[in-house]
Amino acid sequence: MARGSGIPTLVLAAVLLTGTLGWAAPGESGPPASGSVRRLKVVLDPGHGGHNTGAIGVAGIHEKHLTLALGLRVAQLLAGSREVDVVLTRTDDRYLDLSERTAFADAVGADAFLSLHCNASESAEAHGIETFFLGVRGSDPEADALALRENESAVTPLPAAGDPMVAAIVSDLRRNGTMVESSGLAAVVQESLIRALPDAVSRRVRQANFAVLRQASMPAVVVEVGFLTHPQEGRMLAREAYQDRIARALASAIESFARRTAADREGP
Ligand SMILES: [Zn+2]
Repeated sequence: MARGSGIPTLVLAAVLLTGTLGWAAPGESGPPASGSVRRLKVVLDPGHGGHNTGAIGVAGIHEKHLTLALGLRVAQLLAGSREVDVVLTRTDDRYLDLSERTAFADAVGADAFLSLHCNASESAEAHGIETFFLGVRGSDPEADALALRENESAVTPLPAAGDPMVAAIVSDLRRNGTMVESSGLAAVVQESLIRALPDAVSRRVRQANFAVLRQASMPAVVVEVGFLTHPQEGRMLAREAYQDRIARALASAIESFARRTAADREGP
């Protein structure tokens, strides 16, 4: 696993990206508000991009466009936050390899990583929201199948699920506590989305072997905000007002997670 490769380019990309959009560059987040603790740096990762469209929905919407719209909206909502600094892995329709996304999060010193996705299924009946953190095995065969589909975006060879390296990474994550924090982040995100979208079904917090999560060294989750292939949910997802509700729920979840992390850091 070539973790070091490409980092200089990524750091440059981070500076360009944050510079262009007016968000704080790494280490230059400005003076913290008086009395406040260090802001939590959160990397939002709009899934797919460029030639990699992701799922294509009933309304003709491409997953890559929806994830980008959500990421940009969440960043906008949190732009004035005293608790959170948001950095996006991409701000336009470009392709990023899965391993580049977490390498980017490492390069900017992220405290948390959220990869944004929409679901798809061969069954037109499948619908609902689910949030994942890493597991060597999925919570169920459906979770395994979803991870396989999302992992197809990887160009750089990534270790397979049965690879001893994966087991080693997972045991490292468990040891340094990010597994527990990841499951906490997943729970906050899932609860917030379900609260904001009472008509949506909760498919709960689950585990799966997502390639994009395997190399994350910080709390990391994949959020699947709904099924683009469901006749109703797919059309709802295409609506700006519905996207806005999702983005607000994600922003509020990120702020809750930041507050909880700050409280944990301060201790009792
Ligand atoms: Zn996806």
